[in-house]
Order: sequence, then structure tokens, then C-alpha cells
Amino acid sequence: MEFYSGQISKLIEQFSKLPGIGVKSAQRLAYHVINMPQEQVEELANTILVAKNTVRYCKQCCTLTDQELCPICSSDKRNHKQIMVVENPRDLIAYEKTQKYEGVYHVLHGAISPMLGIGPQDIRLKELIMRLQGDVDEVIIATNSSLEGETTAMYISKLIKPTGIKVTRIASGVPVGGDLEYIDEVTLLRAFEGRTEL
Ligand code: ZN
Repeated sequence: MEFYSGQISKLIEQFSKLPGIGVKSAQRLAYHVINMPQEQVEELANTILVAKNTVRYCKQCCTLTDQELCPICSSDKRNHKQIMVVENPRDLIAYEKTQKYEGVYHVLHGAISPMLGIGPQDIRLKELIMRLQGDVDEVIIATNSSLEGETTAMYISKLIKPTGIKVTRIASGVPVGGDLEYIDEVTLLRAFEGRTEL
């Protein structure tokens, strides 16, 4: 039996496809949107479309940006010889919030996971290796301390070692299995400062 009109069902279905949104939340969002003023709904729909059409990967570090180069990569105040490798743009933002890191980043958009069938070719590793042909002093591996994060760190360090570039790994001030984005800034800083050479 259909409880809702077709259009409402469709809207609920679309919302429930979003990460972290269960059926109940999807219903709540759908009702909320229906009750919003027309121009607010248009603005929301428009913002989603414009963002989708303009946001892209930074040509250098692969984070999300609406320019060819993100503000960090295009800044001459940053140390472009120090590259911190993170799993996703949220981790980059976590480190930026500490306001202590002056290097640049590389965003992998994931981690190697043999269990989930995610291999080195499925993340932005090729782009990182390309960057290492430039002038680089240090690569700081700041992937999460989950199994996937550690696997990725090991893989990258093995890949970089032959180039002679210094490779470091952030300290384990980050709790095992911890997601970087949920860790407070002090812990992040401690992990960064206590990084060890691989
Ligand atoms: Zn960038």
C-alpha cells in the first residue's frame, strides 16, 4: 500500500540515498522541503547544481576546489617541498584548523583496502608519485590509523623510499581506528610533531 503520493515517495527515496540518512530522517527532510518557501527550495536546488558543476579536484593536490588550483596549492606562503598525504578533504581541513602546518597536502580520496577491493589504482596515488618528480623534501603520511590507513602508509612508504625523499608517519597520538576528522587539534598537533621517519 502506498502511504504517500508518488512525488513525496520519490523525494524520500532520494534523501535516503544520502550517507547517514535513514528512512526516518529522509521523511523528515522531505516534509521539511515541502513546507519550505518556494524561493528557498529553488536556492537549495540551485546551490546543489552549481556546486556539482563547478567543484572539481585541484590539479595538484586533488582536494575539492572551484579553481584549477586550490588556495593552499596556489599560496606562496606555504612550503611546497613538504607534502602531507591525507585520505580525504575532511582530514585536510582538520589539519588546517590547527593553523600550525605550513606545508601542502595530497588528498588520496580513500585508502587501500584489499577487503573492499580498493587497490592502489583506485585512489589518487599516481598523482602523488607524479608530484614527487618535482622538488620535494618530505612526505608526511597522515592516513588514519585504521587497518586501511596503515596498509596505505606502508604501500606509499615502500613506493617513495627508492627516490631518497624523506618519508615520515604521524605519531600514534591518533587512537587506533580513529578517524582524523574527529580528533581534537591538540592530539593532531602532537601526532604531527611526533612523526617518525619510515
Ligand atoms: Zn591543491
